[in-house]
Amino acid sequence: MSEITVSTSARNQLVDITGKVQSALDSEGIDEGICHVYVPHTTAAVAINEGADPDVAGDIEKTLERLVPHSASYAHREGNADAHVKSVMVGSSVSVPVRSGRLMLGTWQSVFFCEFDGPRSRRVYVTALGR
Ligand code: ZN
Repeated sequence: MSEITVSTSARNQLVDITGKVQSALDSEGIDEGICHVYVPHTTAAVAINEGADPDVAGDIEKTLERLVPHSASYAHREGNADAHVKSVMVGSSVSVPVRSGRLMLGTWQSVFFCEFDGPRSRRVYVTALGR
């Protein structure tokens, strides 16, 4: 398993980590199999979506904020209940097929670290399974 560090600069922010995930995969030495990407945080997530047009990531950030506002009648006293809810909605892991040592993402796909309670320094675990 390899560990990636991601530094975020806003409370809600999608960060394209495709290059970092590929570098971690390179160090795992797998030719064919599955690359598992896991976020060990309760107020962040990971997702795959369009990386070509940065407006898509911005639209996802804005839509999640609209659906799950920062201030509402939450019981959680820490003040970041919205971030916990967004983390559950987006999910803590993704898996990507690997062929010839490369992430088999679609033409427009990128892997995004999804920050919902930043800015912070975060960790991502990359595990490659295969041969
Ligand atoms: Zn909390």
